[in-house]
Amino acid sequence: MDRIEKTDEQWRAELTPEQYEVLRRAGTERAFTGAYTDLEDSGVYRCAGCESPLFRSDTKFHSGSGWPSFSDAISPDVVTLKKDRSFLMVRTEVTCARCGGHLGHLFDDGPRETTGLRYCMNSAALDFDPVEDPVEPT
Ligand SMILES: [Zn+2]
Repeated sequence: MDRIEKTDEQWRAELTPEQYEVLRRAGTERAFTGAYTDLEDSGVYRCAGCESPLFRSDTKFHSGSGWPSFSDAISPDVVTLKKDRSFLMVRTEVTCARCGGHLGHLFDDGPRETTGLRYCMNSAALDFDPVEDPVEPT
C-alpha cells in the first residue's frame, strides 16, 4: 500500500476542522454527535483523510457507545494498531495505514458471535460511500 505523506499545513487546508482535529490531532468527537453513529445504509466507510476503504457496513453494529462501531476492518492491512497510554489508560489506537490518520480505538467487548472486537471510530474520520457491492481493498 502506498503511504500518503502530507505536511500539517496541507492537511489543515484539505480537511474540515472536525476532520483535522480527529485525524491529525487524535481528537475524539463527542459521543452521539457523529454523522454515522446510527447509519445502517449499505456501503463502505473510507478514511476521510485519504479515501482508503476501511470498514464495510455489514460489520457495523449498535454498541450504544455513541460512536460508529465495527466488528472488523475491511482487511487487516488497512489499519495500524498501536498501544496508546494517554489519559491514564492503556488502549489500542487505530490509525489509517495509508495516511496515518487517527481513527479511534479498538476494544475487545464487541459482539461475541463475530470477532469479539469493537472498532470504536469517529464519524469525522470516516467518509461513507453508499455502494451495493462494496469494493475490495486496493
Ligand atoms: Zn487515511
